[in-house]
Amino acid sequence: MDSSHSQHTQSLGASCALCQLVALKANHPDFICELPHVVITRGPFSKRWPGALQVTSKRHLRDPGQLKYPHFIHTQSELYAIENAIRRSTRAHHMNVVKFGNVVEHLHWHLIPRFSNETHPQKTPWELADVPPEALFHTSSTQPLDLLYAEIASELKAQLLAAQPPYFSTAFFVRPLDQAQQSIFLQLPLTEQHAAIRAQPDAFECFLMQRNYLDFAWDTFGGEIDPGENPVDALKRELNEELGWAIERQLEVTRQWSNGMIRGFVYLTLPEGGSLLQNTPARTPCDEVKQAAWIPLKTLLDNPGNVYSRPLCGRALALVAGQTDFSL
Ligand SMILES: [Zn+2]
Repeated sequence: MDSSHSQHTQSLGASCALCQLVALKANHPDFICELPHVVITRGPFSKRWPGALQVTSKRHLRDPGQLKYPHFIHTQSELYAIENAIRRSTRAHHMNVVKFGNVVEHLHWHLIPRFSNETHPQKTPWELADVPPEALFHTSSTQPLDLLYAEIASELKAQLLAAQPPYFSTAFFVRPLDQAQQSIFLQLPLTEQHAAIRAQPDAFECFLMQRNYLDFAWDTFGGEIDPGENPVDALKRELNEELGWAIERQLEVTRQWSNGMIRGFVYLTLPEGGSLLQNTPARTPCDEVKQAAWIPLKTLLDNPGNVYSRPLCGRALALVAGQTDFSL
């Protein structure tokens, strides 16, 4: 092993074969495609298992633990999509995904499809190193390799396009507990509503829903942003789906972060039609919503007995603190 790699330098090492592969990209003879964090090539196992790929990190690191957490998550998502693309294109029975690093200390993986017509289906690829390629299968594939790898690349593109971006838009509907003040308050500009909420949070309540899936937790109304959508359009679509409400005005009050990545946009929101003046506002039935209710803001801020989820209470605390960003 070249001793220069034991320092895990992040510069492109002239003596590291995988740094050279990353630098060559499309000029590498086995190149398939690149994603933001990895370069994909056919790799050594493709000579024996059609559809096998090598996935090489763009950074000269020995171990995934050396990646910063957001990069680690993004790299794992890319591996997940690549594995799915191979499985779908090759109709593999199962997948071997291995990270060696014994020969080259540069983070990379081998993704090897395994098939139901193999002669030794229960053995690992390295246990079969001495078996000639033609003896690995009862029947051999007639599909040209170039075609198969083109199919994997286009399947991967489809997988990545279909992947939901991890962002959401969500709404706080807030009104004074004192019924006599509600009408006047709801006519104020949203910036003034926000200032009043911040000044006296104990005097307000918010309209929340209990989800009918996942953790069945109480939450603000809203949902995931679709590919190609902006946060406000997503807010409007989700509120229409979950409540049947249209939006008159909205004010971004905070952004929720997690692990150094933005997760969602939180709005103080005013619906059209005076829904917030009603104790049980009219709404269209939605499978996702188990029930909806007015809950005092103070209850979320104090959260006695940890009844409400961290994200919901985090949003309430950020709303009252006037934090434009908060992390969980
Ligand atoms: Zn390297």
